[in-house]
Amino acid sequence: MEKICVAVRVRPPICHENSSSTFWRVDDNQISLHKLHGSPISCVSYAFDHVFDENCSNSDIYELLTKDIIHAAVDGFNGTSFAYGQTSSGKTFTMNGSSNDPGIIHRAVNDIFQKINIISDREFLIRVSYMEIYNEEINDLFAVENQKLQIHENLERGIFVAGLREEIVNNAEQVMKLLESGEVNRHFGETNMNARSSRSHTIFRVVIESKGKDTGSFGDYSSSDAIRVSVLNLVDLAGSERIAKTGTGGVRLKEGKYINKSLMVLGNVINKLSDSAKQRAHIPYRDSKLTRILQPALGGNAKTSIICTVAPEEIHIEETKGTLLFASRAKRVTNCAQVNEVLTDAALLKRQKLEIEELRRKLQGSHAEVLEQEILKLRNDMLKYELEREKLEMELEKERRSHKERDRYIRDQLMMIENLSSLVSDGDGSSSQGSMKESPIEECNNRGDGFKTPCFRAAPKAFVAKRSNYSQLPDLSPLPDSFSDVADEDTWFKINKGYIADLDSLQTTPARKVQSFPPEDVTPNYLNKKYKTELQNLKRRLELVTEEKNELQRKLAEDIEVKDRLKGDISKLKQEALLAREMPQRLCDSVTSFKDTYEEVLSKMQRYTFDGKSSTAKLLRCICEIGSILFSTMETSISNTTDRHKLSSGNDSLIQEYNKMLSEKLKSTITSLILSETASSEDKQTKTPCSCNFEVAAWSRYHVSILVLFFVMILGYFVSFFRTLIF
Ligand code: ADP
Ligand code: MG
Repeated sequence: MEKICVAVRVRPPICHENSSSTFWRVDDNQISLHKLHGSPISCVSYAFDHVFDENCSNSDIYELLTKDIIHAAVDGFNGTSFAYGQTSSGKTFTMNGSSNDPGIIHRAVNDIFQKINIISDREFLIRVSYMEIYNEEINDLFAVENQKLQIHENLERGIFVAGLREEIVNNAEQVMKLLESGEVNRHFGETNMNARSSRSHTIFRVVIESKGKDTGSFGDYSSSDAIRVSVLNLVDLAGSERIAKTGTGGVRLKEGKYINKSLMVLGNVINKLSDSAKQRAHIPYRDSKLTRILQPALGGNAKTSIICTVAPEEIHIEETKGTLLFASRAKRVTNCAQVNEVLTDAALLKRQKLEIEELRRKLQGSHAEVLEQEILKLRNDMLKYELEREKLEMELEKERRSHKERDRYIRDQLMMIENLSSLVSDGDGSSSQGSMKESPIEECNNRGDGFKTPCFRAAPKAFVAKRSNYSQLPDLSPLPDSFSDVADEDTWFKINKGYIADLDSLQTTPARKVQSFPPEDVTPNYLNKKYKTELQNLKRRLELVTEEKNELQRKLAEDIEVKDRLKGDISKLKQEALLAREMPQRLCDSVTSFKDTYEEVLSKMQRYTFDGKSSTAKLLRCICEIGSILFSTMETSISNTTDRHKLSSGNDSLIQEYNKMLSEKLKSTITSLILSETASSEDKQTKTPCSCNFEVAAWSRYHVSILVLFFVMILGYFVSFFRTLIF
C-alpha cells in the first residue's frame, strides 16, 4: 500500500493587484495564507509531498513528481499523473508546457523511449491513444469519427474504452506528431479567465508491454513467458469554474456545468477513498466517466501523482482553498500498485508474435531499419483490424441487448394482460358474491416472480436503498439525472468548500420501472375499477391490432392473386418460347422444298434456250448462280439459328448486305443483257429484216421480264423470311 503523491504548484501572478491584503507563501513543502506584511492566518496552512512556487519550471515538477511513475510504468506498474485546479491556474501549462519549457507529457514520452533504449534484455511494444471527455461524452482525439465511446470492463483488459484508436509507436517523434494532430481536435473555448480554456478533460494514454528477450534468436518466445503490461495515464483536467466569474453563457455555460459535475464526482470519490477503510462501503466511480476511467488510479492498482495548480491572486482565494482541501484529502488516499504480468493473449505482444515472426523470417537479410518499419506497419495494421473487430463486436452486443430488452418487454406486457384479465374476472365474481377470497394485496405479495403483475406496494419510484444494486448495473457510466437539479453555483460551492455530496440519496433507481399506486386508496373496489379501466384499454389495443391483422390478410390475398396471374403469363410465354425454338427447323424444311421448286422451274426454263449462248440462257445462268448463293446462305443461317437458338442482330446487317450485293449483280446483268439484245436486234433489223428473228427477240424480252419478276419475288420472300427469323 502506498499513498498518492500530491503536490501543489502556484503559478506566477497574471495581474498584480494593488488592493490585496493577503498572499500565499510557500515554505519547503508547505503553503500558507499570510496577511500582507503580517503573520500567517491560522488554519490556512497545508503541507504536501511537494509545493512548487511560481519560479519552478516544468522540468522541476517532472523530476520530483512524475519521473518515478514513468520509470515504474516502464517496469510494469500502472501509473497516472493528473493536473487538478481552477480554470487558468496552469494545468495545461504543466501537462503540455511551452516551446522552451516542455510539459510533463512531452518529458514523459522522451523519458520512456530513452529508458527502453537502455534496457537491452527486454523487448518493448508501446502504443498510445488520446481521448477527451467533453460534456460527459468520450471522443477519440486521434480519430474524429470515433465519438461517444463507451467504457467497458472485462477480466482480461480491466476497464477500457471500446473503439478507441491506438497507435503503435517506435520513437518519441512519432508520438509528438500524433499529439499535435490530436490537439487540433480538442475542445477549447474563450472565457473571461482564459482566452483558450480547455473545455474537456483529456487523457493521454500509453500502454507499455515488455517481454524478456530470449538468449536464442531475437523475438523467439516460448508460450509460458509472461508479458508485462502497464497503462500510463497523463490527464489534463478541465478547470472548475464559477459561472459568475468566467462570465459564460450558452454553450460555455453548459460545458461548465458538465465540467463542475464531473469534478464534483471526482471530489466525492477522493473523499470516500480518504475515509477510513471501514467507511469505504461504496466508491461512486461510475457516477462520471472521468472517475470510471481513472478507477485503477484512484485507490486501485496504480502509482498516482496529482499536481494541484493554484492561482495566487486574492480574487481566487476561495478556489485556491478548495483546491488545497481537495489536495489534502487526495494525500490520504492509498493505492496498491503491483507489476502486471500476463500470460494470456491479453498482451498485444503475445497476440501478434506469430505474424511478426513470419515477417521477420521473410525479411531476413533486410536492412535493420527496413525491418523495423515493416514490423511497425504490420503491428499497426493488425491492431487496427483488432480494434475494428472489437467495435463491431460491441455493436453486435448492443443490438443483442436491445433485442433481449424488447423480448422481455413483450413478455411483461403479455403477463400483465393475462394477470389483469384473471384479476378482473376474479374481482367480478367476488363482488357479485360480496366477498373476496384473497385480496389483491395479498395475492400480489404472494407472487415471487418479477415478470408478473407489478405490486402496488412496490416502493414508489424513489431512492435506492442500497448502493450494491447500483453497482450491478450495465457498465454505461451514467451521470445521475438528478444532478441536473443541482444549481451550478451549488456545485461550485460543493467542489470548493469540500462538501461531501451524499450520492446515495441523490441517485434515483435506474432499475426496471415498477408501477406505483397511491397508498391511501387500496380498497378492492378501487382496485377493481382500476383494473377494469386498464383491461378496457388493453381490449381497445387488441381491437386495433386485430384490425391491423385483417388489413394485412387482405393485402396478402391480393398479393396471392397477382402472383397467380403472373404464373399464368409465365407459362404462356414458355409455350411461345418453345414454338420459337422449333421455328428454325420448320423454316429449314420450307427453304429446302422452295429450293427444289426453284431448281425445277429453272431447269424447265433452261430447256427453252436453244443453244445456251443466247442472252436468256446467260440470264438464267446468272439467276441460277444467285439463287444457289441465296439458298445456301439461307440454309447456313438457319442451321446456325438452330444451333444457338438465336440469331445475333449482326446477321441482319450481313443479310441486308448480301441482298444489296445480289440485287446489284442482277441489275447489272439485266442491263447489259437488255443493251446487247437491243443492239443486236437493231442490227439484224437493218441488215436482214426477218419476222423469225424479230419473234426470237420478242420471246427473249418476254422471258427476261418474267425472270426479273420471278427473281424480285424470290428476293422479297428471302428478306421477309429472314426478318421473321430474327425478330
Ligand atoms: P488551465 O489549463 O489551468 O486553465 P493554463 O495552463 O491554460 O490554465 O494557464 C493559463 C495561462 O497562464 C496561460 O497563458 C499559461 O501560459 C499561463 N501560465 C500558467 N502557469 C504558468 C507558469 N507556471 N508559468 C508561466 N505561465 C503560466
Ligand atoms: Mg487547460
